[in-house]
Amino acid sequence: MLLKTGILALCAFFAAAGCAGENSRINALVVTGQCNNSHNWAVSSEILKKTLEDTELFEVDMAVSPARGEDMSGFKPQFAKYDVVVLDYEGDEWPEETKKEFVDYVKNGGGVVVFHATDNAFPKWEEFNEIIGLGGWGGRDEKSGPMVRWRDDRVVYDETPGRAGTHPPSHDFQVINRDTEHPVTKGLPEKWMHTADELYSKLRGPAKNLMVLSTAYCDPKRRGGTGEHEPVLFTIDYGKGRVFHTVLGHVGPRDKAPIRCLDSVGFIVTFQRGAEWAATGKVTQKVPEDFPTADKVSVRKGYSAFEG
Ligand code: ZN
Repeated sequence: MLLKTGILALCAFFAAAGCAGENSRINALVVTGQCNNSHNWAVSSEILKKTLEDTELFEVDMAVSPARGEDMSGFKPQFAKYDVVVLDYEGDEWPEETKKEFVDYVKNGGGVVVFHATDNAFPKWEEFNEIIGLGGWGGRDEKSGPMVRWRDDRVVYDETPGRAGTHPPSHDFQVINRDTEHPVTKGLPEKWMHTADELYSKLRGPAKNLMVLSTAYCDPKRRGGTGEHEPVLFTIDYGKGRVFHTVLGHVGPRDKAPIRCLDSVGFIVTFQRGAEWAATGKVTQKVPEDFPTADKVSVRKGYSAFEG
């Protein structure tokens, strides 16, 4: 009886400390709260949180910034407490102290996932642009760095002058994994279809220590099509930190037609694997049976921005 009481007391202690069985989870922080008018951060950030939680590998917190134009001086997420920081943010400048803490976090080995329009953020913040590797819009041009394209089976840095960032109207497109040995892509079909999304093109940036994982062909027959294989999944090493950048995942404002790309199994799986890799350097997740094929999209219920 005494023993049983002792065990119960021990369990209660661990439960109170919040560490019973939770220590093995990856601690993730989704940073959000602002985005330009083309995006709905409130919807996308919740889906990203759910997408990570569904793996049962992650414990996810949210850091929501003040609204655009409001006082940002108190916005100080505790980056250093986390294994991976997922950025779903494009908006007002963070306080200098917060910027410094973020850069230190990555330098010291913190993981980062850069999601879709986040690469529109902070065009003037030098370290941020090194961390994301490539960005678009916000006045970026050839001074921001080269475009990165895949030509003749290799990465090409394209210095052609011009504004950074464009995309054809949302459409289904095929993604090709160019690095099939990286933990994020290893074991996935080499080619897979992604559901209607913006295919970000002409991104530019420092592209230092950048490894292209996957590209998609931006068909010039579509409005704004570049005729190039544009990088859609890539990694950046920054200090001791690992960065996984996915340009996929457009979620538009509610008053426009539903866009469902966050329920694309290719997005879900590469996001989950990219986050685990950024946090730990490894991927333990199995490739699910519903992963898309080279010519057929696959969607999963419960992840659409506009369901229910
Ligand atoms: Zn978008």
